[in-house]
Amino acid sequence: METSKLRVKGARLRASLEQMAQIGATPAGGVHRLALSDEDKQARDLFVRWLKEIDLTATVDEMGNIFGRRPGRNDQLPPVMFGSHIDSHPKGGRFDGILGVMGALEAMRTIHENGVQTERPLVIVDWTNEEGSRFAPAMVSSGVWSGALERDWAYSRTDINGKKQGEELERIGYKGPAPAKKWPTHAYYEYHIEQGPTLERLGKTIGAPKGILCLHWYDVYLQGEANQVGPTPMEGRHDALCAAAEMILAANTLPDRMKGNMVATVGEIQNGPNSRNIIPDKVHFTVDIRSWDDSHAITAWELLKKDFKEIAARRGTPIRIEETWRCPHAPFNEKLVQRVLDTAQQLGYSVHPMVSGAGHDASYMNQVCATAMIFVPSIGGRSHVEVENTTWEDCEAGANVLLHCLLTTANER
Ligand SMILES: [Zn+2]
Repeated sequence: METSKLRVKGARLRASLEQMAQIGATPAGGVHRLALSDEDKQARDLFVRWLKEIDLTATVDEMGNIFGRRPGRNDQLPPVMFGSHIDSHPKGGRFDGILGVMGALEAMRTIHENGVQTERPLVIVDWTNEEGSRFAPAMVSSGVWSGALERDWAYSRTDINGKKQGEELERIGYKGPAPAKKWPTHAYYEYHIEQGPTLERLGKTIGAPKGILCLHWYDVYLQGEANQVGPTPMEGRHDALCAAAEMILAANTLPDRMKGNMVATVGEIQNGPNSRNIIPDKVHFTVDIRSWDDSHAITAWELLKKDFKEIAARRGTPIRIEETWRCPHAPFNEKLVQRVLDTAQQLGYSVHPMVSGAGHDASYMNQVCATAMIFVPSIGGRSHVEVENTTWEDCEAGANVLLHCLLTTANER
């Protein structure tokens, strides 16, 4: 059939997103659906039901990744894969991740109801624990699937209550039988909200990132000396929180000192014993460094590490540093990025080439096969917060771009 006229149904996409947003809904209009929580399970069950409704073969692998496969005319050819993630940040938004899964499902529904036969198989995917906010690191399951991370190491990662990722997978019934191991894949697309202000500022509908910045994560542990705050003079204190405060500001000024081309953030901190009348003696905080240039980010980290050691020595607060995770920058496949640009234009949408500052499963998929992403604007550039929002029109536009990128790519020999 003539497929160039095909369009997704915006109202159906909206309804699916709204239904998903009820699972883990927060009073302030966001979503709290942490990886491998009961809410995650509920959303997964619904997703699998929807896959079966359109005759897709659903499989779950040992990392809990969910795949829905539609055969191709030549079913031996490597498939085109596309998807994102269902989990959210604590008090996160209604679009991050889930738009890429529901947009992909809407494209699949459109292909199904129009009886379109593609040359290659199509595989929709929900990757487990993309956010990494309950179990670090992020993108862990595409990391295992692609061969970059070890499965058993991923299983052993614990949340703040000491629960293991592997056990939680089992608890919600999503430790599947299929090996979490890559198979030959022709291409991968991920549709996502931008999570930044660029598209909105430029008045563009579609973003075509040329790749993703590197993501380097560190954990810092400080040991101070606890004591009663009243009788203990200021001289000679070993206040772990004051040491951390200096370190946090050192991280904040790092990009300036490195002449830009990077961002650095401390976003999480635990202070112990966290009492108003005890000098803090145990502090843990995280450092996140991102850049298009991995070696620039590592040089920056070496500088920051020196600062940290100097501060710790001066304040008498012994320091332990864990280099938790490094995901290298991911330059996408140029042909596929161009296809996103061309497809958006053919469909009549304004489009903008850019880079992604946020990490995505597309980072690891880029190590397996030709990869590209499709972005739509985030209102006010806000994301990972409850007010995260994108217009329904833009949600529909991105799904149409995905649909036509899929049709073109899945008919390549
Ligand atoms: Zn996401």
